Amino acid sequence: EQPCSHYVVSKKQIKKLRKKRPLHSHKGNYGHALLIAGSYGKMGASIIASKACLRSGVGLLTAHVPHWGYGIIQSAVPEAMTSIDRSDMFFTEFPDLNTFSAIGIGPGLNKKRNTVLAFETMLDNMNSQALVIDADGLNILSENKHLLGKVPENAILTPHPKEFERLVGVWNNDMDKLSRLKKFCQQYQVFTVLKGAYTVTCTPNGTCYFNTTGNPGMATAGSGDALTGIITGLLAQNYSPEEAAVVGVYLHGKAGDLALKKESTESMTALDIISCLGAAFKKIG
Ligand code: AMP
Ligand code: MG
Repeated sequence: EQPCSHYVVSKKQIKKLRKKRPLHSHKGNYGHALLIAGSYGKMGASIIASKACLRSGVGLLTAHVPHWGYGIIQSAVPEAMTSIDRSDMFFTEFPDLNTFSAIGIGPGLNKKRNTVLAFETMLDNMNSQALVIDADGLNILSENKHLLGKVPENAILTPHPKEFERLVGVWNNDMDKLSRLKKFCQQYQVFTVLKGAYTVTCTPNGTCYFNTTGNPGMATAGSGDALTGIITGLLAQNYSPEEAAVVGVYLHGKAGDLALKKESTESMTALDIISCLGAAFKKIG
């Protein structure tokens, strides 16, 4: 086992990582993200992740949705382009992955057999695209452990504690949790963002970055879907996986803290967090 370092992320470090936009730039400079999210009864996950991705500065966004979700996503997120999956309940066909600079998969998805097979095909056909895996994308990996070996190096996994437990088993205490986190990242050469208060981002070599922004108001439906959209948007803009994860987690938490000035911990919703992303970016300007 390698020696591991632990860091607490500071605002100063995040400020250094923010990419400023050159005057003469256009949307082609800011990447094209693909979000594969939403299913029957959970189209909100696709909407939330898409809105957060757009608010993170991505140049173009395509949302891949089941065919009956077309009208829903087009009216809720007019900025997004849509890629239609002809199947009813499953994700079975993906657009040409080479078109995209970053891909996010999982929020509000499902774990049906066809979806698992489509996910496997997608993993088999990935080149060097940056990838974020969340929610049911992670649950599919937990239930089909052989797929973990197909996850591309440097992918970013964003489990909440329960999803992480499904991946690595039950831990005995916080130290044990941290050691399972490092072992997992080293074994599969991935980044893992273990969410909660003090979200930890662990790199493929076992380095851990602890985040200090955020508050319990963010313990609300769709909050994690927003984070997936943010990190995918940053990846599409050429932030490295490490930068995208650490900066994304910081901004998401900061937006939650700013939302708390208008809302209470009880009343805060995922869309409130997203509406404060602009102010969060300004704090690291
Ligand atoms: P999910 O469970 O996937 O919706 O993700 C929840 C999101 O909210 C994660 O980004 C968590 O870090 C954040 N969150 C949840 N509870 C808290 C908390 N008590 N303090 C700070 N952030 C939180
Ligand atoms: Mg979630």
